[in-house]
Amino acid sequence: MNKNARGSLAIISGPSGVGKSTVIAEVLRRRPDLYFSVSFTTRTPRPGEVNGVNYHFVDVPEFERMIRDGELLEHAQYSGNYYGTSAKLIDEKLEQGIDVLLDIEVVGSKIVHDQRPDTPLMFVIPPSFEVLEQRLRGRNTDSEEVIQRRLSRAKEELKEIYRYDYLIVNDTVENAAEDVLAILRAEGCRTANRAYLLKEE
Ligand code: ADP
Ligand code: 5GP
Repeated sequence: MNKNARGSLAIISGPSGVGKSTVIAEVLRRRPDLYFSVSFTTRTPRPGEVNGVNYHFVDVPEFERMIRDGELLEHAQYSGNYYGTSAKLIDEKLEQGIDVLLDIEVVGSKIVHDQRPDTPLMFVIPPSFEVLEQRLRGRNTDSEEVIQRRLSRAKEELKEIYRYDYLIVNDTVENAAEDVLAILRAEGCRTANRAYLLKEE
């Protein structure tokens, strides 16, 4: 298949516990050519999380050094921790023609979108707020205090939905992954992303 000279970037956001990581894992299983950007964070790893796979886990001084040295495309604070995306890591992939998927919260998504306005923004919601709470608890990884902080942040985040291009309901992982795959496919068919097909040799 013909490939665009440069890869495309796409963003997925949504409240903590809605199932973004689970849906993204299914998307990657079906689109192994996609690159998932592994973020940097100062949060403590959850049981089962692997450094370099789920996140690059760093301490606060190292994260603040990365901010000072301009290494991050965007960064934000979430629930008392820093999270950020390495500009170099994703630009390397995009330059190689590889499509890149970011799982970032709403502040970071705005920063990226302001710099790269053609980046499609997808927001994942739960079937209901009660289901979100059940999933956060069912994950069994966070203390009650952390869960409460994440639920109150979720209410704030839901107000940002109207900035997003696409809304995905994570009722089943299968349905949500299908929606993400369909959106990525349609985005890839945009004339701007296919201009390379029209170039005369
Ligand atoms: P996020 O990455 O958005 O914080 P996770 O992917 O960690 O969320 O999912 C939170 C919890 O919800 C996990 O225990 C996961 O197995 C579960 N989960 C995710 N999607 C679904 C779904 N469609 N139906 C039921 N449970 C789900
Ligand atoms: P968690 O601690 O549940 O893994 O992630 C908390 C929030 O941080 C989620 O909303 C997730 O999308 C967001 N997040 C993860 N990586 C990044 C990042 O690199 N930048 C920003 N801005 N948010 C991120």
